[in-house]
Amino acid sequence: MPEFQSVRGFHDLIGEEAKKFRAVCDLIKRKLALYNFEEIVLPVVEFLEVFQRSIGEATDIVQKEMFAFQDKKGRWLALRPEGTAGAVRAYVQNRLYAIKPYAKLFYEGPMFRHERPQAGRYRQFHQIGAEVFGSIEPVVDAEVIHLVHEILSELNLKAVIEINSIGCKVCRPDYREALKQHLNKVEGQLCEVCLDRKDRNPLRVLDCKVPTCKEAVRDAPKMVDFLCNECREHYSKLKEYLTALSVPFQENPHLVRGLDYYTKTVFEAVSTELGITLIAGGRYDYLVEELGGPPTPAIGFAAGVERLYMLLKEIQPEEPLYMVIPFGDVVDYALLVVKALRSEGKRVELSYKRAGLKKQLELANKLGCRYAVLIGEEEKEGGFYTLKDMETGQQVRVEFTPAL
Ligand code: ATP
Ligand code: MG
Repeated sequence: MPEFQSVRGFHDLIGEEAKKFRAVCDLIKRKLALYNFEEIVLPVVEFLEVFQRSIGEATDIVQKEMFAFQDKKGRWLALRPEGTAGAVRAYVQNRLYAIKPYAKLFYEGPMFRHERPQAGRYRQFHQIGAEVFGSIEPVVDAEVIHLVHEILSELNLKAVIEINSIGCKVCRPDYREALKQHLNKVEGQLCEVCLDRKDRNPLRVLDCKVPTCKEAVRDAPKMVDFLCNECREHYSKLKEYLTALSVPFQENPHLVRGLDYYTKTVFEAVSTELGITLIAGGRYDYLVEELGGPPTPAIGFAAGVERLYMLLKEIQPEEPLYMVIPFGDVVDYALLVVKALRSEGKRVELSYKRAGLKKQLELANKLGCRYAVLIGEEEKEGGFYTLKDMETGQQVRVEFTPAL
């Protein structure tokens, strides 16, 4: 084993994996462009407090998963565990609310969480996320969920989109109380962590994966039965619009999310094949204010790029590859052929191996070239090249005049 290994939970992406990774990112970004989202390039490091304030003190991310450290001046910083907090910080700091009636932004890049690594769970992973700031309209929620649905369909991935409403400042307190009362009754079945969550953050108990906890919340009250008029209307409009758009969804009355900032709509796209969440998001109508901006409703989602490409069966075949093979003292002429072919948009590899024709053709085969472009003294003198189809073995002469 070589002396140096990558850090646990941090990975290199090479070859096919890197291609699939790029294919997923490109497809999502093409979709985002069609919905008129604008890119925002955000720092990887923020003040720790940005995450504490937005994600919430009582969440797993803030309590256990943060890569936090002190800088030379003793200030607490952290590698970002997700993108929304930074996007909101940037929205407020750059006063985007004063510039645009509403803003549709997307970001991409690595996120860092100190979790136990396993398939689909890493310590550095990548997200592409999108956020819409400035509208409370349920049609925005519908557009965002429609976008998620389109991304999954275009990647040919089977997933169920689960939705729920977790209410707002007006209606959630009553629900919290009702849920707490229920949890007190089933206390004996709760795991250690949930016993602690029960009073501080009872909604998170709904999200616990421990079987006895799942059992304990099966008959728990549902947020949808507690929604205030505004939240109920919002949720029912969202369902109406999704139906109109033919976006299949499933209501999951116990769906909550691992971050505290959500309000009203929350959603997750869960892979039918693996049962893991691929894309997740929701509304966060108080977060801009919480980070010092004017009251601004917002909604967003984040797609886990590794989980998406892991499930990807195939990617679009690449453009056929040409290899230009100079044999003899003809490299100058070969370079001009390479230049001309690339300027026609062809994918071209110039053979870097100085050897006879046979050896270079073997190389072209190894590299999976579809065509070999043979250039010897005769070709250079005569102003042409020989195009060899590597599959059929057929050769044709192609006239070539170097551009001046
Ligand atoms: P999970 O319940 O799987 O831990 P989460 O609720 O923590 O997910 P979010 O914070 O909502 O996830 O992040 C959105 C998406 O980012 C997830 O659906 C997933 O695809 C991806 N993701 C989150 N954490 C990781 C990780 N540690 N490794 C790889 N992908 C991740
Ligand atoms: Mg998590």
